Amino acid sequence: MLRNACMRIVGCAIGLWIGMAVPCEAYQERAWRELSDRTLSRMGRALLRGQTRHWTHAESPHFIYHAAVPDPLPGLAREAEWVVAELARRVPADVDAPGRIYVLTDRRAWQRLMQVSGRRPEGIALQIKNEIFLLRDPDQPPAYVDLPHELVHWWLWGLYEGTLPLWIEEGLAEYWGWQLAQTYHRQRQRHLYRDRPTISPTLWLPWDELLARTTYPAEVEANRAFYRQSEALMATLLERVGQAELHNWIRHMQAADWQLEQVMHDSYGWNEADMIRLWQQVEKRLK
Ligand SMILES: [Zn+2]
Repeated sequence: MLRNACMRIVGCAIGLWIGMAVPCEAYQERAWRELSDRTLSRMGRALLRGQTRHWTHAESPHFIYHAAVPDPLPGLAREAEWVVAELARRVPADVDAPGRIYVLTDRRAWQRLMQVSGRRPEGIALQIKNEIFLLRDPDQPPAYVDLPHELVHWWLWGLYEGTLPLWIEEGLAEYWGWQLAQTYHRQRQRHLYRDRPTISPTLWLPWDELLARTTYPAEVEANRAFYRQSEALMATLLERVGQAELHNWIRHMQAADWQLEQVMHDSYGWNEADMIRLWQQVEKRLK
């Protein structure tokens, strides 16, 4: 308890010194009974299993946290609130209910969670509706991009409630998740780089197939190609239409039943040559 209080004061002083956007009072560790909302999802209840006193609970302006170990929480909360402020600048949204972030350390409990939710076993982060689940394995190198990536999904869920096609969801989460992680850590003198394995050319999906996908490719390499292509397409589109246009673009896409070419033609006046240039730019990005 004392150690935490001392650490928080040190964190506070450092925060003021480098001018962090989130004031330290914004993060508070709380006993279970002091939390502003104790209504857990089915998944949350299965994780905590009534053992709330064995978990550390905390709150910050946009989130309620439940962590199996307390150490990562203050830093995680600071990063989560920073990302939310950045996302609010990109696509304004009203967040009325706080999100919930669970931090697990037990790999077996994590694998059960991934199994129950039908996710890939190698994943280390997961967002379902208003909740984010993170694995923090002390034996593994720190994961810098998983929190911003899932927070982008969380933000999109608040805006579009899971109605976006997979390529837009993952394209944005990959593109913005990486940008946000890079900026956040650069401000703290940590320079991230992406170690991205080469994708075999046979694994790239035809573009019409990518746009129509409603499920993730089962094979690990093919899944990686799907993420890479989705990100390259979203990044190029955002550069062409402008980041501030994203919400309008999504509304146009929704109204046109997600037909990209039709929207670019009808709402942005693109002709065939513009579309060809788009695909050339995306392909170049993938090289
Ligand atoms: Zn994702």
